[in-house]
Amino acid sequence: MSVKPNDARDRDADTGEPVYTYLINQREEIVSVSDSWIEFALENNARELVDIVGRSLYEFIGHKEVSDFYRHLVEKVRRTGGALLVPFRCDGPTIRRFMELLIERNGEDIKFEGRTVRTEPRDSVSLFDPLIERAGDKLEACSVCQNLHLDGSWVDLEIALRTRKLFYRNSSPNLDYSICPRCKEKPVFS
Ligand SMILES: [Zn+2]
Repeated sequence: MSVKPNDARDRDADTGEPVYTYLINQREEIVSVSDSWIEFALENNARELVDIVGRSLYEFIGHKEVSDFYRHLVEKVRRTGGALLVPFRCDGPTIRRFMELLIERNGEDIKFEGRTVRTEPRDSVSLFDPLIERAGDKLEACSVCQNLHLDGSWVDLEIALRTRKLFYRNSSPNLDYSICPRCKEKPVFS
């Protein structure tokens, strides 16, 4: 059976927003992704995230801290049988995107289900533009809350964007996604 793009199963019943789903097996390999995931990856110029079935989830999570964080959450879901809800930010250049990732068991597999809770338009921020030229420097960002590690401390994303004009120019630092201490220490993730 062929699956049409924008299939109703890929949409949140209440909001009509896309729901991005992927499953991993016990060997951490991605066993399926929803059409909405593929569309989302293409819309965001992330071609490397289109053909991912059969590969390890953690291949796509560069920073060890982030893969350790997600491995810990997956282990917790497997151990307790309960679901976990991870609120996270996934901004685009002209949008603040507040999302949630539901992690739950699906038979022997683990299902990840991401959905957009709300969005806000914003002035264009080159930091989140996949097409902008990147300077050599790396800038650490929290992959959960998107706060930024600047001059030795973690700064709220919105404050950083208001005070650091460099993010609005024609090039931007490379983002290096990790996990900030505040997100790591949230009780829900312990
Ligand atoms: Zn954080």
